Amino acid sequence: MIRGKMFINGEWTDAKNGRVREIINPFNQEVIATVPEGSAEDSHAAIAAARAAFDEGVWSAASASERGERVRLIGQKIANQNEEFARLESLDTGKTLEESRTDMEDIANVFFYFAGLADKNGGEVIRSPLPNSTSIVVREPVGVCGLITPWNYPLLQAAWKLAPALVAGNTLILKPSELTPLTTMKLFELFEEVGLPTGVANLVLGTGKEVGAPLAESTDVDLISFTGGIETGKTIMQAASSNVKKMALELGGKNPNIVFADADFETAIDQALNAVFFHAGQVCSAGSRLLVEEAIHDDFVEELVKRTKRIKLGNGFDEKTESGPLISAAHRAKVESYIQIGLDEGATLACGGKRPDAAELQNGFFLEPTIFTNCRSSMRIVQEEVFGPVLTVETFRTTEEAIAKANDTIYGLAGAIFSNDIGKAERIASKLRLGTVWINDFHPYFVQAPWGGYKQSGFGRELGKIGLEEYTETKHIFRNKQPQPIGWFRG
Ligand code: NAD
Repeated sequence: MIRGKMFINGEWTDAKNGRVREIINPFNQEVIATVPEGSAEDSHAAIAAARAAFDEGVWSAASASERGERVRLIGQKIANQNEEFARLESLDTGKTLEESRTDMEDIANVFFYFAGLADKNGGEVIRSPLPNSTSIVVREPVGVCGLITPWNYPLLQAAWKLAPALVAGNTLILKPSELTPLTTMKLFELFEEVGLPTGVANLVLGTGKEVGAPLAESTDVDLISFTGGIETGKTIMQAASSNVKKMALELGGKNPNIVFADADFETAIDQALNAVFFHAGQVCSAGSRLLVEEAIHDDFVEELVKRTKRIKLGNGFDEKTESGPLISAAHRAKVESYIQIGLDEGATLACGGKRPDAAELQNGFFLEPTIFTNCRSSMRIVQEEVFGPVLTVETFRTTEEAIAKANDTIYGLAGAIFSNDIGKAERIASKLRLGTVWINDFHPYFVQAPWGGYKQSGFGRELGKIGLEEYTETKHIFRNKQPQPIGWFRG
């Protein structure tokens, strides 16, 4: 049994109020760890530590290459311990071990990538338009960063924030989801091993209301980067107005997957399954809204349902398992309530819609992969993020109709177009109000390319060069090389 701690001001600590939380394996509900269940008091201690560390300037004053080297070392240590990290992530989230291993490779690469940018983030010299002067633009750290992350990709989402925040010279407090803190705790052990100065990186554990909210409210925190649900994002945005914090919000999605009749049928079927049912649909960019050209609708749905019924649910540690459980009883209940909403709205249940019968799955939070056909844009099941293994199917006849339907939600995170007419696909891509558009693929993301949403999927970008800029302030320094009185006031 793991006994976790928070990491505040260079010390591993329990919650000041002494409370603990049990961490549950969602496959069988066994208790795998106990961790501190902190309160505002712990968050305030972590903020004070990060504030002092930033104001002393030990980390921000270190050379950019030195910061880069420490961050690269963290990536190397994650790469060396891929298997230990991956096993812990699968235990905590229920996702397949294969997926966790890939996550860990991506995470190591995030640290390598931002480490490589460390000394290329200096700023630029611009030609001053005024005579006898110089003008330079420099990038500086923002200050104390509050980083708040969800449970679906616990360490990955944390890495997207931690690596650029550290490289840019900030200090930080990370609050992972209270459901999945284990790999993040292990990462902070590595921070200690590579010798990050005291107070630079702090870890607080507990619920959003108790330990997350103080980060958003505090006037000693300069930036909030949040990944999670839209309603939480709105609350954090309001709280962050206390001192006009810099902000990035990575919120949910209701991501369209547009399949034209001229697409490669096999590829489109295979990708449509992967788009929505990967990680039991608990993916912000899940392709949960299928828009299929009317001419192929019946064949497409028939094949999709056939393949969906074959998806092998099970223990993430079993190599044959293709999809694990949902994260918690409460989350499964939420997804089930959406299935009921779909039925009440008159959508046709083509498969799934219930818990699986298999005896070995009864202790886990499983739900059968579910497909609704005969859906309309006005339905809640089509408009709202379900965040589970639930696909809605609509049809379209023209390109214009496909674009209009794809754009018809409050979200704008990601989506895909399947067609062999590449000119058409690229024209559509330019009309979609989405942060990421895939053509003839679904889900690829990599550290070199920015990630983030249009519309109510949020603002700010993670990954890519812009993912580092989010953690910097931009300063213009102008120098007059021949100072002399200008005589505007003559008295
Ligand atoms: P959530 O909003 O419930 O919680 C996210 C984090 O915020 C958790 O750490 C939680 O404890 C904390 N929190 C909750 N209330 C808070 C408050 N008042 N103040 C401060 N912090 C608070 O989301 P979740 O259920 O953990 O994650 C699922 C959501 O995350 C989905 O909507 C999904 O789309 C989104 N997500 C988005 C991306 C992206 O890149 N856009 C990536 C992954 C997940």
